[in-house]
Amino acid sequence: MSTTVVSSIRAKLDAMTEKQKKASLTWKPTRGEEAQIRIVPYLHGSDPFNELYFHYELGETKVVLCPKTSNSIDGECPICEYLQERVVNDRSERGKALYSDLRPKFRAYVPVIVRGQEEQGVRFWGIGKKTYQSIAELFLDPDYGDISDPLKGRDLKVVATKPNSEDRYGRVNIRPAASSSKLHEDSNMGKKIIETCPIVFDAFTKYTYAEMEKILEAYLTPNKVAEPVEENPAEDKPPVQENVANAEGVQSMDEMFDDITSEDEEEKK
Ligand SMILES: [Zn+2]
Repeated sequence: MSTTVVSSIRAKLDAMTEKQKKASLTWKPTRGEEAQIRIVPYLHGSDPFNELYFHYELGETKVVLCPKTSNSIDGECPICEYLQERVVNDRSERGKALYSDLRPKFRAYVPVIVRGQEEQGVRFWGIGKKTYQSIAELFLDPDYGDISDPLKGRDLKVVATKPNSEDRYGRVNIRPAASSSKLHEDSNMGKKIIETCPIVFDAFTKYTYAEMEKILEAYLTPNKVAEPVEENPAEDKPPVQENVANAEGVQSMDEMFDDITSEDEEEKK
């Protein structure tokens, strides 16, 4: 084989490994099955709730972490700029549809270990506002307190229900374990879990400003053949069917993150 072929294959393999690494940094509950998880103290931030915003499902690109609206990142976002300059004041139907597609959508990512899968290390669970609130309320409830405390915190039992006629997105039910427990029986191991927790941003593909411009352009002019851009490997799912996406794109959002309610939808004012 020529060196060009070898280096081409190597680049592909590296990209694949990188994708797998990122995919392994996120976790989501399997619908219909109870999982027991433990929130891990997050050394890279002041609390475990990493509030992030995403531009979602723009053409081929499924997930773009927005550097502008995610507080913890400092960066400019061409998609938000376009939204502000060209879309926000456009009251036409097309303007509303564009707004709904392009606006940054909220997700909090919480570092957790999954009981029975401790060897997989800390992963980030992406939750919407409702789930976020119900977990945050446990922290504020004096009966529970800091449930991420490695010595006297509590596990959480999580069930994501399947969508049904009453709940078209399904729900995420959370309840704290009956008694407090350690993050790990072996306190050295517990310490290690906390110390080796990755930074949340490692779970997502980082795009440059220019790459995000290309993603936006490809979305706005879908017929033009755009250069392929890497999509977020953490969410390696089949394309969402057109007919299940409602006007707000909620269904596709949920299919994407697989969690699960229409909770973080905001109407255009
Ligand atoms: Zn943005």
